[in-house]
Amino acid sequence: MASTGFNSGLDIGKSYYVATANAAPDHPALTGDVEADLVVVGGGCTGLSAALHAAERGLKVVLLEGGKIGWGASGRNGGQIIPGLRKGAKGLVKAFGPERAKALFDLAFEARGLVLDIIERHGIECDLRLTGHLVGAVNGSDMREFEEEAECLAKVMDFPHVEILSAAEARRMVDTPYLGASFETLGGHMHPLNYTLGLARAASAAGVTIHENSVAVRLEREPAIRLFTDKGSVRARHVVLAGDALLNGLEPRVNSRIMPIGNYIVATEPLGARNVIPSNAAVSDTLFVVNYYRMSADGRLLFGGGERYTPSPPADIAGFVRPHMEKTFPQLRGCRIDHAWGGLVSVTTSRLPHVGHYGEVYFAHGYSGKGVILSTLSGKLLAEAITGDASRLDLFSTLTPLPFPGGTALRGPLYVLGMLWYAMRDRLRH
Ligand SMILES: Cc1cc2nc3c(=O)[nH]c(=O)nc-3n(C[C@H](O)[C@H](O)[C@H](O)COP(=O)(O)OP(=O)(O)OC[C@H]3O[C@@H](n4cnc5c(N)ncnc54)[C@H](O)[C@@H]3O)c2cc1C
Repeated sequence: MASTGFNSGLDIGKSYYVATANAAPDHPALTGDVEADLVVVGGGCTGLSAALHAAERGLKVVLLEGGKIGWGASGRNGGQIIPGLRKGAKGLVKAFGPERAKALFDLAFEARGLVLDIIERHGIECDLRLTGHLVGAVNGSDMREFEEEAECLAKVMDFPHVEILSAAEARRMVDTPYLGASFETLGGHMHPLNYTLGLARAASAAGVTIHENSVAVRLEREPAIRLFTDKGSVRARHVVLAGDALLNGLEPRVNSRIMPIGNYIVATEPLGARNVIPSNAAVSDTLFVVNYYRMSADGRLLFGGGERYTPSPPADIAGFVRPHMEKTFPQLRGCRIDHAWGGLVSVTTSRLPHVGHYGEVYFAHGYSGKGVILSTLSGKLLAEAITGDASRLDLFSTLTPLPFPGGTALRGPLYVLGMLWYAMRDRLRH
């Protein structure tokens, strides 16, 4: 598959997901001037879900994707299904008080049921495995934290689905020596590109017109909304900006609240009897620069590890990730790596999503590494608001993170300094 174009950087064309993608139609670029009720920028899960749900509510929807559908974060991530928000239950209670925290948690948890329902209703083949999500403890204080978080989840959120595992119990689930683990039984994993392509198919079937290779370069708000590409334009009553880390400049008011961070993944050769995750759970650890991994449907280890805060990617992505993988699994030293690629994670200062609207300009982004299912939910909330019920979007937009210090110009250098400090602490401890 061709790997040039707007969202084709960081070797997405060489990813395991592109190599195993289900057949999907190409969508022609936008040409000429058209009209719609809603124009959506971005063919990832946020944009496609907003488009699907708006079309199901009777709106005429045009979606513009600058490159290929699913080649943004949605089709290149770890595929880990982790219910809830990136901020834990204790953190939510501290920030919002128990009642609001529970309302936010319940809403975020809906993402899981929504995605499962979409997969079933539209017959999306995406290697869905509901095998749980395990977080392995690497720091001495982690087990106490796990206990407190599980207690808060059970008591405040009425969520009794977390088990605390001893080192020996954790080792039976994943073959690396964690100090213990927190195991959330409702998590799992899936092939994220095939899910995203399925969502696009569902949106098309609901009447959404999709244009690929159609970069939105300018947004006019007055006298009415009009979005321009280099070959055409769309006039509409509402616009959804769902470009996440790649959206730049169309709406300056959102730019200083998200920060793109390069993150990298490898897929090993099929491991056969050397499988290192007998439980088939999705796994991550408690390092600041988190390692996250899982088995693919054909028995490869898909391992994400290592972040880079400079704009340039590593020259050799496999060589960059391999040491993280071999430190976790020395038994895989020297195994073949068949695929290596990267993506941009958009993070916020609070690690909570930035969702909301300025008049008829709606947006949702900044899931901070926890957007596989939240993006689909956010798209639905945007569609609900656009079609007349903003109550749930309003609840979600109370999560609005502070801008990065230094505004758009200085957020990069200041943030990099902070991140390098925390990453160095990881290295000193281990
Ligand atoms: C390497 C990596 C691993 C991750 N692992 C996990 C994980 O295991 N679990 C988890 O929960 N989350 C994970 N995430 C986060 C998750 O993938 C994202 O939060 C989520 O996919 C965001 O979806 P989205 O639709 O908002 O953005 P995207 O999927 O990035 O879609 C945005 C789309 O907008 C398009 N676009 C941008 N600007 C324009 C424009 N001007 N005109 C036209 N089109 C435009 C882009 O080309 C892109 O296709 C990971 C992210 C990365 C990068």
